[in-house]
Amino acid sequence: MTTSPLLAQSHTEGFGPRSPFYAKSTLPFEAPPFDKIRDADYQPAIEAGMAEQKKEIAAIADNAAAPTFENTFVAMERSGQLLQRAMAAFNAVTGANTNPYLQNVQTEEAPKLAAHSDSIYLNGKLFARVKAIYDKRASLHLDPESQRLVEVVYDHFIHAGAALNDADKEKLKKLNEEASKLEDAFTRGLLDATKAAAYTTTDRGALAGLSDAEIAAAAHAAEDRKVGGYVIPLQNTTQQPVFTDLRNRDTRKQIFNNSWTRSERPDHDLRPVIARLAQLRAEKAKLLGFPSFAAWTLENQMAKTPDAVLRFLNELIPPATAKAQEEAKDIQALIDAQHGGFQLQPWDWDFYAEQVRKAKYDIDESQVKPYFEMNNVLENGVFYAAHLLYGLSFTERKDIPVWQPDVRVFEVHDADGKPLAVFYCDYFKRDNKNGGAWMSSFVDQNRLLGNLPVVYNVANFQKPAPGQPALLTSDDVNTMFHEFGHALHGMLSQVEYPTLSGTNVPRDFVEFPSQFNEHWATYPEVFQHYAHHYKTGKPMPSELAAKIRKAQKFNQGYSLTELLAASMLDMQWHTLPANASLQNVDDFEKAALEKSHVDLATVPPRYRSSYFLHIWANGYAAGYYAYQWTEMLDDDAYQWFEEHGGLTRANGDRFRRMVLSRGYSEDLSKMYADWRGRAPEIGAMLKDRGFTNP
Ligand SMILES: [Zn+2]
Repeated sequence: MTTSPLLAQSHTEGFGPRSPFYAKSTLPFEAPPFDKIRDADYQPAIEAGMAEQKKEIAAIADNAAAPTFENTFVAMERSGQLLQRAMAAFNAVTGANTNPYLQNVQTEEAPKLAAHSDSIYLNGKLFARVKAIYDKRASLHLDPESQRLVEVVYDHFIHAGAALNDADKEKLKKLNEEASKLEDAFTRGLLDATKAAAYTTTDRGALAGLSDAEIAAAAHAAEDRKVGGYVIPLQNTTQQPVFTDLRNRDTRKQIFNNSWTRSERPDHDLRPVIARLAQLRAEKAKLLGFPSFAAWTLENQMAKTPDAVLRFLNELIPPATAKAQEEAKDIQALIDAQHGGFQLQPWDWDFYAEQVRKAKYDIDESQVKPYFEMNNVLENGVFYAAHLLYGLSFTERKDIPVWQPDVRVFEVHDADGKPLAVFYCDYFKRDNKNGGAWMSSFVDQNRLLGNLPVVYNVANFQKPAPGQPALLTSDDVNTMFHEFGHALHGMLSQVEYPTLSGTNVPRDFVEFPSQFNEHWATYPEVFQHYAHHYKTGKPMPSELAAKIRKAQKFNQGYSLTELLAASMLDMQWHTLPANASLQNVDDFEKAALEKSHVDLATVPPRYRSSYFLHIWANGYAAGYYAYQWTEMLDDDAYQWFEEHGGLTRANGDRFRRMVLSRGYSEDLSKMYADWRGRAPEIGAMLKDRGFTNP
């Protein structure tokens, strides 16, 4: 393979004292020197960073001295600092401000970074030292966090296959290779299948109900594909957004069937791919010493076992399906009142639900947005809540360099006035920014290296014309509180070791602090402090505020049931034992939904097995439940606050001390139960979804 002409032949060449990554940043909090970093600086620093860490790891593995906690675990924690500096800045710019040059570097470095990680976790000599300490950890009198580090790092090695003999490592490599080919084939196949299953018509009447702009877009999509008439492309979910507006029932039915069978059609049948993938994953788990792929995946999650996840889902299914059936009855009544003369089908649901929603809760966003000016929501809402709860204060720093001029930087001070963290926010949509919103860090808090946290939030809010205010939707406001919840998890961290810091926690816990923080967006004391009209300064009328809160409870039976059905499919596929035969996908899916009692005819799973990208190629295998699990946690946690006087500093400080500051430094179930006084329960989630009376 030849290297790209854009890039130097030897990538570490040109790395030296003049590189902005060469030494630790001298900026406050070791913030990245974005004023000095040029695009060409990243790749040499990443390459040099890997080379440096390789040497550091070799020195640990080859150490003639007997393994100790210090010369093995602490030494590993200290390794890789150059790589970390370079990657943190690189990830920020490739996510939020990328260009073809940086994308090229990303493509070149991704496989090298994966191989670099393997070279650490599959290093036999290193693992022998890790295991030696792990085996005698009880007799070493380590402090609890150090003992935790030993266990977490050891598990990481085990999960990667470090304990296997050479023959089995070879087998694992083969299984991983085949799986990664199938995952790739699934991703590409699904893209094609989804494209091919678009709905096409030459009859404009079939699209009655769509707006002129939507019909123009459909005509444009047809032109793009060089077909006549109109094309409605499919979204990734079973249900399609156009269903809320399409008046023609037959059109809805056809689009639904296209969606439902997209990956079963001739030339686009992905069922053989997933049947084999499920089998391969079960084999891989067995090789690694686990009864199923789910057991392997869940061991280092908060839920820990497939049984715990299944118990959780099975507890939610009866109330969710009961609520969905109630909603179905309301919709059937509406169909009958309009003399529809038919039984509700999945393709009718959204069309009629939208009519109910409009009648009951319609909220005009243009009425709401003037109350949500972006900087005001940030400073008088998001920051204000953090001030009330945790005593934090925020001062803008114009002197810390940024990766793009719209980015703002704040220094965060603790209640006692001491510097605590740096927080960047990059909120406006740009063409060279990934979609969605996220949080990440440049520097993770840890006492070992003496680092304070440097974190950032990115979103895609509409940028206003020059001189105009940036007005947010209520969804945007939620997003801002959500991402700031992740930022708090990073900023309030108080741990010794980088590996256990802040948001370095499993998937079924990481969304808990963020979703929990969303609750404060509508908390009266906070809401009244920020929801003021940007022109008049008047607070939002209470009827409008009440409408926003009420609308959040609409159609929740349906929306939770479709998620639970998808989660169940995920769990059933990934609890297959290693000796199971190749499954017939249709029979398996039908049986899985039936035996889980989540097979309502009118509420299909949000994703069907054959187009469930999350679980087959996007790393959410045996993990889709995490969305519902963290919802249980955040509602249950908020209920604790409600039971203890709501938003107070005392409550905030207690939550900070026992949960937000702890990172991954202790078992998460224990951490949660110690703070909550018991294990999490689903009651508050059912109440928040509107299934039970408040
Ligand atoms: Zn999140």
